[in-house]
Amino acid sequence: MDRIYFDHAATTPVSKNVLDKMMPYFTDVFGNAHSQHSFGRVAIKGVDEARSQVSKAIGCLPNEVYFTGSGTEANNWAIKGAALAKQARGKHIITSQIEHPSVLNNCKWLEKHGFEVTYLPVDSEGFVIVDELKKAMRQDTILVSIMLANNEVGSIQPYKQINEVIKQYKGCLYHVDAVQAIGAIKVDVKDIGCDLLTLSGHKFYGPKGVGALFIRNGLKIEKLIIGGGQERAMRGGTTNTPAVVGLGQAIQDAIANMPQYTAHCQSLRDRFISRVESEIPMVKLNGPRTNRLPNNANFSFEFIEGEGILFRLDLAGIAVSSGSACSSGSLEPSHVLQAMGVDIVLCHGSIRFSFGSANTVEQVDYAVEKLKEIVKFLREMSPLFNLNEGEAKNV
Ligand code: PLP
Repeated sequence: MDRIYFDHAATTPVSKNVLDKMMPYFTDVFGNAHSQHSFGRVAIKGVDEARSQVSKAIGCLPNEVYFTGSGTEANNWAIKGAALAKQARGKHIITSQIEHPSVLNNCKWLEKHGFEVTYLPVDSEGFVIVDELKKAMRQDTILVSIMLANNEVGSIQPYKQINEVIKQYKGCLYHVDAVQAIGAIKVDVKDIGCDLLTLSGHKFYGPKGVGALFIRNGLKIEKLIIGGGQERAMRGGTTNTPAVVGLGQAIQDAIANMPQYTAHCQSLRDRFISRVESEIPMVKLNGPRTNRLPNNANFSFEFIEGEGILFRLDLAGIAVSSGSACSSGSLEPSHVLQAMGVDIVLCHGSIRFSFGSANTVEQVDYAVEKLKEIVKFLREMSPLFNLNEGEAKNV
């Protein structure tokens, strides 16, 4: 069996169609998109087309789309830019405890600079509790930033209810990190009712190192990357034309392929979940069973460390992701699982499996067989498991 990639929430390969579209922009169409001569003019045509492709995909106008160097940069810009622009009105921001670090760490940075941040709790399935949002809203709340879909457990947030609450506070901005949602669920800025929305090329078969921020027309936020006049003088830096062109093609393809893509991923995911739950004892599915990204499965395996499973799966040629983040030499349990109230030991035993277009039923079945062997092997070595087994036998 060739190597198997089950980590599409981390990144996806660039599709052949996207790569073909990008290639000329490295060579023949290499001009600076802001040059006034013919080389620049053909390059800017590619950028304009990409802007229009993004706008059609998310239901906005082309001039509401600003290209950035990543989803992380778009989140930085949305949060810092909105906070700095609106600080005369108030200094209170609301986000959730399960956001991506590019949101959470920006909020922490703002706290150091005089802003106050409320981190909303989530329920045991990973959904933001809307009543907590209602309680947290204040007259001086200037920004609410809540992701559309969680990257670890795939919970799709109740964005409509969230918007209903925010709408009652005039002047409060709504930012949505939609990085994991594009291509997986319908993303329409009008339907969501947001003022700002982040996306990132490499999560939907486009290139890495390119993202976009939707900024609703009429809204003025502070600039983050200050330089020349690029992106209508809102984001300096020579446009990464091949990447922008790639992102445009990728989002257009993602929307066109969405029905087949999501059906394919969901059938693999459901097969995987049902086999793991019925064939491996003492497992817990983290996250919801409905309103979940079609390609996400996240399991905790009792009595074993996620890393042990991850490394052994890797040796078997299967790539997955663990819920722990390696920081300063120690393994930090996932902040998302902790916020959901998952027991700390189970947090350490969690693995995320995220499926994609090239995955097959055979790969899923092979991975389940390997997983069964690995879990059995690691449990036999686990003193905690043996202790528990012994206790169970004594009952
Ligand atoms: N937001 C979410 C929910 C993500 O999953 C990621 C990446 O994993 C990002 C933001 C950051 O995007 P990028 O990798 O383009 O910086």
